Amino acid sequence: MKEASKLHIPLIATNEKITYGLPARSNDSVDAIVDDLVSGRQPGVVLLDFEKIGELVPKLAMKMGPIRKAQGFTALPDDEEFKKLVGKCTKCLQCTRDCPEALPISDAMAAAVNGYLSLFETLHDKCVGCGRCDYSCPSDIPVLNVIEKASQRVIREEKGKMRIGRGQIGDPEIREEGRNLVLGTTPGVIAFVGCGNYPDGTKDVYDIVEEMIQRSYIIITSGCAAMDVGMFKDKEGKTLYERYPGRFVKGNLLNTGSCVSNAHIAATTIKVASIFAGRKTKGNWEEIADYVLNRVGAVGLAWGAYSQKAFAIGTGCNRLGIPVVTGPHGTKYRRAFIGKPYKKENWNVLDGRDGSVINIEPAPEHLMITAETKAEVMPLLAKLCFRPSDNSLGRAIKLTHYIELSEKYLKKLPDDWQTYVRNEADLPVAKREPLMKLLEEKGWKIDWEKKKIIEGPLRKVDVSFQPTNVPRLCKEAKK
Ligand code: SF4
Ligand code: SF4
Repeated sequence: MKEASKLHIPLIATNEKITYGLPARSNDSVDAIVDDLVSGRQPGVVLLDFEKIGELVPKLAMKMGPIRKAQGFTALPDDEEFKKLVGKCTKCLQCTRDCPEALPISDAMAAAVNGYLSLFETLHDKCVGCGRCDYSCPSDIPVLNVIEKASQRVIREEKGKMRIGRGQIGDPEIREEGRNLVLGTTPGVIAFVGCGNYPDGTKDVYDIVEEMIQRSYIIITSGCAAMDVGMFKDKEGKTLYERYPGRFVKGNLLNTGSCVSNAHIAATTIKVASIFAGRKTKGNWEEIADYVLNRVGAVGLAWGAYSQKAFAIGTGCNRLGIPVVTGPHGTKYRRAFIGKPYKKENWNVLDGRDGSVINIEPAPEHLMITAETKAEVMPLLAKLCFRPSDNSLGRAIKLTHYIELSEKYLKKLPDDWQTYVRNEADLPVAKREPLMKLLEEKGWKIDWEKKKIIEGPLRKVDVSFQPTNVPRLCKEAKK
């Protein structure tokens, strides 16, 4: 309200829960309200009549636009003011201490005093616009406006290309690809969703998508994340949307649409359960979620999540059996579903064929977890695509990516890679022998003549295994 008044922007409250102490004008004529707002007699109004809001807003905007322009109302300082403001910085670092991204604001201020704006331009991409620095600056510098002013060039040049929101994934596409997904030969579906509260700038989203799509994961995006993916280009000037097709097939990049189109992503897993296991879609959430959790290698990544909406979407995915990873700011939600892989006795599922209890590897290990950095999140995404139903070829593909991503970004083998090995065929083909040697060092027994693992894995591979957590789905129970 304060900020709007300062910039001569009338405020229309349309919800009785947030009225800002403004006068109630629902019973007055639209023209009378426009007059009062344009003249500044009232800074805003409460208007609960939606027909009137629809009429008022365009009328008011058309009148206010020229007035604000003529009077030069803008939040951004002009060039002279900008110089004065950056010169006021005392390098006390209070803003950096309060900034959730710990951005080096005072360095950018010092460089700007000498006319160099590049530090501000870099900082602009990483700034999430929370405004905390404004409140913390003892020199009363409107830091956020200074950042915006200094970054006008990059803002003007910021252009991207994205694929149009396609809406739902149709049944024929799912029929074509779903089997690969359930068997694990398509390593997984990764949904890039959520807001722009990224821990280290927008480019990370592009980098993560590029890495995972080159590894044949199906990438589905929506909302702000979908837009951010399209903001960066390769050496040939092409965005990822121009480089990769948009079908529901491995190595494709799909945009379902706005943030609410996340529903289409969740619905895809429901369709897989319906098409491939005949799960009824009405009043049958438990059985569908059970199928998705145990068989569909889908993971959500809300790398810049901050809103309650993003959290609600993430939790909704969890209910459906889809693990979700958030960026480091996700810890502020103060809720996570972190698996305890060391409690091996708790990782049991039933075998749908006879109801027997099978002790399995932790797959997926977590349902809601945060990652700190881009390097940490990529192997984690690969790991969360493991499912107990993977066949050996699928498991070997998934394990290859898990190991390679960890080696590439964390410079080490994952601590738990052997947990996901059920026999020698689960091992990445290119590294089978060295990994078997490592398994031997860990106490596993290897028949080197036959190149077979004799002893060590938690369980054997069984292509007919039907993992479930719902007892009534077991054949024995049905009798
Ligand atoms: S507005 Fe930007 S620079 Fe200021 S505290 Fe928030 S993230 Fe940091
Ligand atoms: S808080 Fe203000 S004065 Fe202190 S370093 Fe930041 S911008 Fe400069």
